[in-house]
Amino acid sequence: MDKKDFGEINLSNIYGSNVFNDALMRERLPKATYKALKKTIDEGLPLDPAVAEVVANAMKDWAIERGATHFTHWFQPMTGITAEKHDSFISPTSDGKVIMEFSGKELIKGEPDASSFPSGGLRATFEARGYTAWDCTSPAFLKEDVAGVTLCIPTAFCSYTGEALDKKTPLLRSMEALSKQAVRVLRLFGNTTVKKVTTTVGPEQEYFLIDKELYDMRKDLIYTGRTLFGAKPPKGQELEDHYFVSLKERISAFMKELDIELWKLGVSAKTKHNEVAPAQHELAPIFDSANIATDHNQLTMETMKKLANRHGLVCLLHEKPFAGVNGSGKHNNWSMSTNDGQNLLDPGRTPHENAQFLVFLCAVIKAVDEYADLLRASIAVPGNDHRLGANEAPPAIVSVFLGDQLTDILEQLDNGGLKRSKQGGILQIGVSTLPALPKDSTDRNRTSPFAFTGNKFEFRMVGSSASIASPNFTLNTIVAEELCQIADRLEKARDFDKEVEKILKEIVKEHKRIIFNGNNYSEEWVAEAESRGLPNIRSTVEAIPALIAEKNVKVMEKHGVFSRSEIESRYEIYLENYIKTINIEALTMLEMARRQILPAAVKYAALLADSINSVKATGVNADITAQAELLKQVSAVAASFKSKTDELGELVEKAGGMHGDSYKLAQYYKEKVFAGMAALREDGDTLETLVDEDLWPLPTYGDMLFNI
Ligand code: ADP
Ligand code: MG
Repeated sequence: MDKKDFGEINLSNIYGSNVFNDALMRERLPKATYKALKKTIDEGLPLDPAVAEVVANAMKDWAIERGATHFTHWFQPMTGITAEKHDSFISPTSDGKVIMEFSGKELIKGEPDASSFPSGGLRATFEARGYTAWDCTSPAFLKEDVAGVTLCIPTAFCSYTGEALDKKTPLLRSMEALSKQAVRVLRLFGNTTVKKVTTTVGPEQEYFLIDKELYDMRKDLIYTGRTLFGAKPPKGQELEDHYFVSLKERISAFMKELDIELWKLGVSAKTKHNEVAPAQHELAPIFDSANIATDHNQLTMETMKKLANRHGLVCLLHEKPFAGVNGSGKHNNWSMSTNDGQNLLDPGRTPHENAQFLVFLCAVIKAVDEYADLLRASIAVPGNDHRLGANEAPPAIVSVFLGDQLTDILEQLDNGGLKRSKQGGILQIGVSTLPALPKDSTDRNRTSPFAFTGNKFEFRMVGSSASIASPNFTLNTIVAEELCQIADRLEKARDFDKEVEKILKEIVKEHKRIIFNGNNYSEEWVAEAESRGLPNIRSTVEAIPALIAEKNVKVMEKHGVFSRSEIESRYEIYLENYIKTINIEALTMLEMARRQILPAAVKYAALLADSINSVKATGVNADITAQAELLKQVSAVAASFKSKTDELGELVEKAGGMHGDSYKLAQYYKEKVFAGMAALREDGDTLETLVDEDLWPLPTYGDMLFNI
């Protein structure tokens, strides 16, 4: 790419310039069409085909003016990444020429062959058809790359029979479910105008950048995204000299271009800084509605990878690319907002607002306690197993941080301490003693997996490579359920104030065990959590069964987010994904062990042996104990390494012959294969510290983490 003169960039001209956004729609659509589309978007109504026809035409004209030749339905299958199938706009005419066409039908519905995407048994292979349907709440955009410009239409992806085959469909369904229940509660609080409640999400994305030349020399990074071998460098993150440090030029050039490319796509990249680990960075956008945030996070990850290449870098999104230094996550900031912009997790200024706030807050607390296992499962990916509970943020135990002030208010409620009062005509409930909560009153707690941060919750367990759809549709659904229970009670209540207070008290009493404001990394917390009965689910394999636990299936079914068969299919997909991931990692390790590390060790041993022989041959009575000792040491570790390689090879081979229950197979991979990999790595890393640097075939941690 040409070097850009960043000085000339005019932000207001480029922001959203590749998006068919509201302003463009207003400008390019006939008034009536614009109004109809807007209504569809704002109120979640079905799209009228006649409207779609007009929108498609305007979209096509705009895209062609901008140089597009193709369009694609852009979707998020169960692979966790995005997929696209490109079609050109051309349509041949009878006189041998072509015209550019794009119909309403093509806009709202696509039919990609679905047979190669994971379906977990939902779709028989003979019924390969899958459908993509336009999610008109997320705007179409243009993707520019060396191949040209493509019009991308964000879509949901379903099977012929309507079952969700993607991450977007359940997210949209869950947003609807939450909106429905939240509106019910708001009506009871006297809000007669609210039409819709949207879940808002701001995901902070962590990533590593390393030099591409070094990356290309590591099969483990190429095949698995993480290093499978690698001795600790002399320096790690102990000096804490990377966090927020000023950006190196090569990195800041990358970040600048990243901002610009994201801004063009309407992704509001806002903050960027270095993270704790060397070579680790973070990007945070401004929050948006959950589905747009999910789309934008996918685009962010794609763009990061693409641009890194242009700068001779590689962007690693894996949760744990390097052992011994911090891994990467995504902080999923989450809240609920009314269509007129009221943040429902914003403590209000009046007691009345505060009561409503407390109801929504307590609904979340209850949801997180009752469905902690489901939340844990929603972020379970193999890479995350290296972070959660493994001496770094955050632990595998789900708990909620509220800060002292809120915890105090809830404790008062628990002790029956909040006084009741009734003033004027407006409903006042017994929370008039609530102090007006200043914003940012909550102290910061960096160790909690689920922290209240003033006016939103920050769910910090999400993996850096994962789609944020699952944690968000899970949160939306379980909170919808609690709001539903609350609304059911309040609708029947004779004395609204009393019932609100009763509900809040009950929730605090029954669910305060989930609240923990202390240090989540400490050993004491693990013991304390156990005594409180909170689950500590340490691995992906142990986490996945929560998906099919009866209470969890019920809540998903009740709110129309998943059918039982959709959940069962996901359970299969996640287990399969775990199995395949570990299998690829093990095979990669074997290849590196056999073809790179062992040969290096053997060469070094030969070098030492040669040295011993040649010194001896000179007849000089020189001390050769250094070579001799080293030779013994290297040979011993190499022998152990070789036998562990063979053992791992056998374990993998045995796994290949196992069929049937995927859970059992996944367990086997975790308990045997994964353990075998750890043992092999130990010897491999010892060899790295012994063998001549010139013979070592792999760039070291020091090379990769400190060379930029
Ligand atoms: P940090 O966690 O590093 O202190 P900030 O407080 O700046 O970061 O915010 C982190 C993220 O939370 C940003 O992406 C921001 O847009 C998002 N955020 C702020 N308010 C909300 C909200 N109401 N709903 C969802 N996300 C929000
Ligand atoms: Mg944060």
